[in-house]
Amino acid sequence: MTGRTHLLAGAAAGAALLALRGAGAVDPKGAVAALGAACLGALLPDIDCPQSLLSRKGGPLGAAPGLFLRHRGPTHSLAASLAAWAVASWLCAACGFLGAVALAALAGYLSHLALDALTPGGVPLLWPLSGRRVGLPVVRVGSALEGLARLAILAALAWLVWRGPLLEVALKWLRL
Ligand SMILES: [Zn+2]
Repeated sequence: MTGRTHLLAGAAAGAALLALRGAGAVDPKGAVAALGAACLGALLPDIDCPQSLLSRKGGPLGAAPGLFLRHRGPTHSLAASLAAWAVASWLCAACGFLGAVALAALAGYLSHLALDALTPGGVPLLWPLSGRRVGLPVVRVGSALEGLARLAILAALAWLVWRGPLLEVALKWLRL
């Protein structure tokens, strides 16, 4: 899938996680951090591709992994998602954020794997145990069907913002 689709899916995954926690458990700072972490997590697997959104916008640090990693290799595995979650947990503890922020990063990362698994290329989900790519090839990257999927994700995100705690938290933050 394209970076825009992954970014939207990451935001939706983060919003869904916040909706599960409820408004009482979410403060504005935590909500912004969780949404940001989910979006970053959703873009992170494609750090193995020099043309990806994160590689292009991430400066030398974002571009470097794409020079020596094969696209849709180890970064598109469950093992990599757990490693990203562990690093995010450590960063959250160091920066004083709730563990939910690291969980949001994991949700975003897993949304990326799920979406890429719906394309003909599949993902090596069980790497390093197996390099075999798995998936259900129903959506071609950049196709009209991906555009429809993006619209559906956008609708889900809008619903999650409207029905979840994000709107209430934003209004509280703005003191409206
Ligand atoms: Zn990918």
